[in-house]
Amino acid sequence: MCEVLVGGHVPASLLDWPGKVCATLFTAGCNLRCPFCHNPELVPVRTSGEGPSGFLEMLHDRRLFLDGVCVSGGEPCMQRGIGELLGRIKSMGLLVKLDTNGTYPEVLRDLLEQGLVDMVAMDIKAHWDLYPLLTGGLDVASMVRRSLEIIRSSGVDYELRTTWVPALMSVDHLRSIRFMLNDDEHWVVQPFRPGRCLKPELDETAAASPDEIMDALGGVRVRG
Ligand code: SF4
Repeated sequence: MCEVLVGGHVPASLLDWPGKVCATLFTAGCNLRCPFCHNPELVPVRTSGEGPSGFLEMLHDRRLFLDGVCVSGGEPCMQRGIGELLGRIKSMGLLVKLDTNGTYPEVLRDLLEQGLVDMVAMDIKAHWDLYPLLTGGLDVASMVRRSLEIIRSSGVDYELRTTWVPALMSVDHLRSIRFMLNDDEHWVVQPFRPGRCLKPELDETAAASPDEIMDALGGVRVRG
C-alpha cells in the first residue's frame, strides 16, 4: 500500500501543466501556513485518511488520454510514499510534474536522481530575508535555496512561482525577488486569489491584476 494521503484530485486539466493534458492529485497536509493559501482544507497535517489507490485506478483507465500527472498539495514531498507514488505513475508511461514549496530538498534531490520527475514547479514565497512574512512565520528560506540549487543543476524543466499578495508584499519586494533570482526566465508571478484564504483577513484585500503585475515588472511572465 502506497503511504500517501490524498486530499483530492482532478481527472483532467489543461491549466495545471501548460501545454499538457494532465490529471492532478492533491496530497493532504502541509508544513507551512501561508496566509494567502487558497486550499486551506489541504493544509492540516493528517495521520490517516484516503490513500491513492482510487486515483491510480482512474489514472490507469484514462492513461491513453493524458500526457501526465501534476502532483500538488499540500506539500507532496512530506509524504512518506511520494517516491513509490511517482514510480507507479511513471510506470503507466505518464509524465510527472511536481508542485512543491521547496522545503524538503533532500527528498526532491532523491526524486530527481531517480528520474521520477519531468518538471518541477517550486514556490518562491518571498525574498530570502523576508520569507517568514509569507509562510505563516516559518523561516524555511535556507531549505528553499538548497532546493533551488538542486533543481537548477538537475537539468529538469522547472518553473519558479511567486504569488503576489499586495497587502503583504510591496512592488519593491517583488522586484527584489526578481533580482535575487538573477532575472530567471523560469520565474512566474501570479495574483493571489482572495475568497477563501487561510488567513481570512486577506479575503478583504485586493489582488493585483495581470496587467498591474506586468506594469510593475516589465517582461515578467504572468499566470492567471
Ligand atoms: S500555499 Fe503554503 S500553506 Fe498552502 S499548500 Fe502551499 S505551501 Fe502549503
